[in-house]
Amino acid sequence: MDDLAGRRVLVTGSTQGIGLEIARTFARAGATVMLHGLATPEQRQAAQAEIAAIGGAEPIVHEADLRQELQVVALAQALADASEGIDILVNNAGIQRTGPFADLEPATWHDVIAINLTAPYLLMRHLLPPMAARGFGRVVNIASVHGLVASAGKAAYVAAKHGLVGLSKAAALEYADAGSAMTGGVTVNCICPGWTDTAILAPQIAARAGILGVDPDAALRDLLAEKQPSKRMSQTSEIAALALWLCQPLAHNMTGTAIAMDGGWTAQ
Ligand code: NAD
Repeated sequence: MDDLAGRRVLVTGSTQGIGLEIARTFARAGATVMLHGLATPEQRQAAQAEIAAIGGAEPIVHEADLRQELQVVALAQALADASEGIDILVNNAGIQRTGPFADLEPATWHDVIAINLTAPYLLMRHLLPPMAARGFGRVVNIASVHGLVASAGKAAYVAAKHGLVGLSKAAALEYADAGSAMTGGVTVNCICPGWTDTAILAPQIAARAGILGVDPDAALRDLLAEKQPSKRMSQTSEIAALALWLCQPLAHNMTGTAIAMDGGWTAQ
């Protein structure tokens, strides 16, 4: 269990937040991790140094802007053509934009769809065939509760995350019989977090604090009370632990799933 020795992993959006925690966790399990994200040089170097301290060699940081299709295709092709290839793809990078549907500008729509849905499609399209040829592969897509249910004010994000859940199911079916229980097979799954403790929440907490006239802690409590019955955020390490479990050979028959980690949000 918890052994990724010899596995090569790309985690998109891993210069901070959930992606960086998945990169740390996978490096601790022995994987060779490639980082990716749009980050300041300081952030990039800090992430590299952390992973190097866990795993030895300094990891590559890919910087493809996922809004730019040509950059995503170039990254996907380079990884697919590399002699050693990618065994585990974690599509984690994501952005969220909130506001009334009537104000949703096409440029915002296209960015949210490009990063949260089109980039995972392009990376999966290029990386799943070589995984199938090797008999082992894992795609873990970090979707959201908003891949399962909607909230007002998040139309583009909800559409992208529902799309990601559907895309993952369809790809899972096409690769379900690749490899064997012995080799580990090729699986595609989504993790669907509810509120999780990362920087992506800051604008929503600030907006809620402004509306209610309260401090950020009170605004966070209000956000949690509205949707997440546990009234607790998830920690990034909890999501990373689930991702790690999905990447073990014993999870060879776990495919096409969308696993909520949401304190009961979608059970209501
Ligand atoms: P974050 O904002 O902390 O990190 C996002 C990452 O995506 C960063 O590394 C950033 O560089 C990268 N990124 C953003 N735009 C990019 C672009 N154009 N090109 C390349 N990389 C880009 O977010 P997070 O909270 O860690 O979220 C990670 C994933 O989890 C996202 O897909 C998000 O939708 C999902 N999620 C988060 C929560 C939550 O409460 N934090 C809940 C549900 C789902």
